[in-house]
Amino acid sequence: MRIISLASGSSGNCYLISAEGKNFLVDCGISARKITTGLADLGIAPETLDAVFITHEHTDHISGVFVLSKRLGMPVYMTPKTYYAVKASRKIENLRFFTPEERFSHDKIEILPFRVPHDAADPVGYKFFTDEGDIVVATDCGKITDGVASAIDGARALVLESNHDKKMLECGPYPPHLKVRIAGEFGHLSNAEAATLLCNMNRSNLSALLLGHLSRSNNLPNIVMDEALSAFGGDFHTTAVQIGDQFAPRELRL
Ligand SMILES: [Zn+2]
Ligand SMILES: [Zn+2]
Repeated sequence: MRIISLASGSSGNCYLISAEGKNFLVDCGISARKITTGLADLGIAPETLDAVFITHEHTDHISGVFVLSKRLGMPVYMTPKTYYAVKASRKIENLRFFTPEERFSHDKIEILPFRVPHDAADPVGYKFFTDEGDIVVATDCGKITDGVASAIDGARALVLESNHDKKMLECGPYPPHLKVRIAGEFGHLSNAEAATLLCNMNRSNLSALLLGHLSRSNNLPNIVMDEALSAFGGDFHTTAVQIGDQFAPRELRL
């Protein structure tokens, strides 16, 4: 199993989930060229991508999907509402729809798209049920709902948003309306909220944790790491932890 962040942050998000011989992308928020060269640099031929799963229509999650789908032709999954919210003149090849909260399967792997509270048309996170354990991606999440907590519980690998430090956001350069949006119930998860979730979840299977979608203006990787460490009681034990970066890949290999 490999969990790779090709890009993670407010300007673009793209994660590779590799398990059971399948290569899935969650989100395509960087250019198709960056995705294909990034994969090649990691020894993964872009042509081996089996499917792409889009969480929601914000640019930092979809900007590369049009060119990538045209170039490679793999299935691209999203909800119908997300697709209509994209309002793109450019076509997405091999588009496939699903209904949030209903499991579906792709090439024998079951996937649960679960709702996340965020200011988009129909945002979701994804849970992949693989023979090697459950893999969950939950970003762009304004608060922890029961549904999000239950999707994450028992995961073997988790990509979790840790967007901002509350004090840095309050005192930072953003205009007041943006501060309210980010901190709100349909905005982004703070470090403290991510830490609370980590503290309360069943971590008995958790082998890999990638904390991502960090705000460049309102967060620092060392604060994210410190908060997560305290949630684990001061020792990550058997969980490998990485902090996502906007420009450099981060990999967790199990
Ligand atoms: Zn978003
Ligand atoms: Zn985002």
